[in-house]
Amino acid sequence: MKYYDKLIFELSHPGRTGYSLPSCSLSAAETPGNVQSSAETDNTAARLFSGEQSFVRESVPNHLLRESILELPEVSEVDVVRHYTNLSQMNFGVDTGFYPLGSCTMKYNPKINEEIASHPLFAGLHPLQPDETVKGAREVIEGLDAALAAITGMKHFTFLPCAGAHGELTGLMLMREYHLARNDNARTKVIVPDSAHGTNPASAAVCGLQIVEVKSGADGLVDVEALKPLLGPDVAGIMMTNPNTLGLFERQIGEIAELVHECGGLLYYDGANMNPLLGKVRPGDMGFDIMHLNLHKTFSTPHGGGGPGSGPVGVGERVLPYLNIPRTSGFHGNFGVMLRAYAYILMLGKQHIKMAGPLATLSANYIKESLKDCFKLPIASVCKHEFVFDGLINDGARDGKAGATTLDVAKRLLDYGFHAPTIYFPLLFHQALMIEPTETESLETLDEFIAVMKKIAAEAAEDPDILHGAPHNAPIGRPDETSAARNPILKA
Ligand SMILES: *Cc1c(COP(=O)(O)O)cnc(C)c1O
Repeated sequence: MKYYDKLIFELSHPGRTGYSLPSCSLSAAETPGNVQSSAETDNTAARLFSGEQSFVRESVPNHLLRESILELPEVSEVDVVRHYTNLSQMNFGVDTGFYPLGSCTMKYNPKINEEIASHPLFAGLHPLQPDETVKGAREVIEGLDAALAAITGMKHFTFLPCAGAHGELTGLMLMREYHLARNDNARTKVIVPDSAHGTNPASAAVCGLQIVEVKSGADGLVDVEALKPLLGPDVAGIMMTNPNTLGLFERQIGEIAELVHECGGLLYYDGANMNPLLGKVRPGDMGFDIMHLNLHKTFSTPHGGGGPGSGPVGVGERVLPYLNIPRTSGFHGNFGVMLRAYAYILMLGKQHIKMAGPLATLSANYIKESLKDCFKLPIASVCKHEFVFDGLINDGARDGKAGATTLDVAKRLLDYGFHAPTIYFPLLFHQALMIEPTETESLETLDEFIAVMKKIAAEAAEDPDILHGAPHNAPIGRPDETSAARNPILKA
């Protein structure tokens, strides 16, 4: 039996507590709140919540007082520790294994940055504290702004947005502001390549802009000839990422920037995946005017569970006059995420930050070359930090038996202790498996992953049913992912 077979949620037993204190030697009158004996201390928490205590009664307006006792679980400390530890082990995280999720940069985040971010002198700051008492925090924000400007070639950043998509919307609003301020009112279109991350067209739509798709060529790069006829006085700008979502460097970015600027538009850079460029290439130098970064991907904040994140937006000379002042939100954005990023950048320094990209690139190409005999490789050129396979070469389909799909491969990986790559994205390929190993994995881990992927390919060729039923060893099998997200069952 595995721990998760006996993982239950209703652990409460009346009267059970997580502490035991000696009986109180003070008289009833001397104890705060008139709690009389240890037998009654069990009820203290409940009394507090019920508003029974005099100090509560005095300080809280009557209509806010709880009318009945709050039903908290009555459990021992060990019940609580085991419950949460077991729950944490049902999930897969970067701290438990290799997590090659493309377009997500699930790299290992050094724990020292967690420690710095949770230091009481930072974590205990109140957002409404007077300015002169938070000079250190201000220095962190200004230092991070300068460091990010140096890394990206932008002039300044705003730390208002709390996610990548939030940054995109902010950046597009700045783009709109730039055009409107010049009385250039007809620019309602945004050009987005067909390989773009889904948030790009979504953010443009939320911003009220019309999306125009530009096709990629057979080499996976934006087709400049297809772009030219789309440009005109109605174009607000183009959104791109480089290297693009296929992990390929848009070599014609210089020409694209010239064409877009010539027609009066701006260039927006999706910098969610800045990892491969750190210290090597700057979006500002490529001609981009506005960009966002995902501090929770590249700069040492763990992510994947839904937050907190930080998607600061940087601008170049053209857009600088429209950047929000002040550049931090009322509560200075997600300050803990900013702290981790600053600590991470300072710790790597100018020399070492340059090594992240080449190492991530080397790892991606190593996996790609090692597995291309088992998995279809639609674009064979040297990739950057990530690349895309298009399913198995031999999926085992025969005699009416369905072959193994990308979903099957992804689920089977869990049985072998690896998280799946990104699947069915980008949409350019039907069986996309998008792999991003990052720079933090050792050669041994990469080799293990390669061996497992080969094993899975061999299993598929022999009997795809092994894969169809996977995962066999995980706490749960295959939930219906749509209804699991829409109607989650949070209690056993
Ligand atoms: C992750 C990602 C985003 C969105 O970031 P969120 O913080 O999830 O909103 C945008 N673009 C690319 C390329 C990404 O990888």
